Amino acid sequence: MVLLDGKKTALDLREQLKLKVSGRQAGMPSPKLAAILVGNNGASETYVESKEKACLEAGIRSELIRFPESCTEQELLGKIEELNRNEDIDGILVQLPLPAQMDEQKITRAVAPEKDVDGFHPENIGKLTLGMETYVPATPLGIMQLLEAYKINTSGMHTLVIGRSAIVGTPISILLSRNTNPGNCTVTLAHSKTKNLTELSHQADIIIAALGKPEFLKANMVKEGAVVIDVGITRIESKDLPKGYRIAGDVDFENVAPKCSFITPVPGGVGAMTIAALLMNTVKAWQKRRF
Ligand code: NAD
Repeated sequence: MVLLDGKKTALDLREQLKLKVSGRQAGMPSPKLAAILVGNNGASETYVESKEKACLEAGIRSELIRFPESCTEQELLGKIEELNRNEDIDGILVQLPLPAQMDEQKITRAVAPEKDVDGFHPENIGKLTLGMETYVPATPLGIMQLLEAYKINTSGMHTLVIGRSAIVGTPISILLSRNTNPGNCTVTLAHSKTKNLTELSHQADIIIAALGKPEFLKANMVKEGAVVIDVGITRIESKDLPKGYRIAGDVDFENVAPKCSFITPVPGGVGAMTIAALLMNTVKAWQKRRF
């Protein structure tokens, strides 16, 4: 069994991005990412902090714009419009989830497609579906980078994606079914109404678990030699730990790992790759706008 080390792969990618940014012509500004955070959701705070730190290390400028939980949709849309027009901003991300009074789709649509480094704008999702050049959402892009880094053969393989969210399950199912490398898989997209999941998972050469149910994928659901990618991140209360919680993935790692050819750990797998992929998109937006 080989551990797919997302932490190390992400570090390598971030190092390459750092070189790209530091090698820019004299006088050219470095890339700049604007992150909008509404309210004070603990998990969102942690993600945004990690993104800011990673940006700083790669030489990417980042600006965090905070709004209180009670802010209106109009205020948020006004800020996005301002950032769209701001020539100094290359990428914009709005940290999800947003408070209940906001229409997430409306907010996502407000970000200029050329600055949409999260790849959530319908124009970018349309391009992804058609196989056109675009910003791929960070988690699926991170998974593709990890498969590529470990030279995992995906061609002709049966991939089972568990979870059909717009930010992970659906885009990774599209990416892996395309005629690319990694890609060329036969993909099954399972969700909460799927009836014969264990039967399907037994047939899968590659399983991508993205459903948000801790340790859901058990050893008896996985065939020998499978590749398992664990996307899940759930905080489990654990009073004995200094933080008061531990992070659990969607895979029962201890029992599944011995059966796998490759598997991602949690933490240190897909999460680390997601941040590196966001930086890749930001540097790409910068290159497209400024070169
Ligand atoms: P989501 O929470 O929006 O949706 C969950 C999906 O799982 C739905 O499509 C649902 O139909 C499916 N599902 C639920 N129960 C199921 C079952 N019993 N069998 C089959 N399918 C089932 O999904 P999301 O936003 O993609 O998040 C999924 C997990 O991935 C969460 O733990 C989230 O925190 C994590 N996540 C991690 C990263 C990362 O960088 N590692 C990024 C995004 C999300």
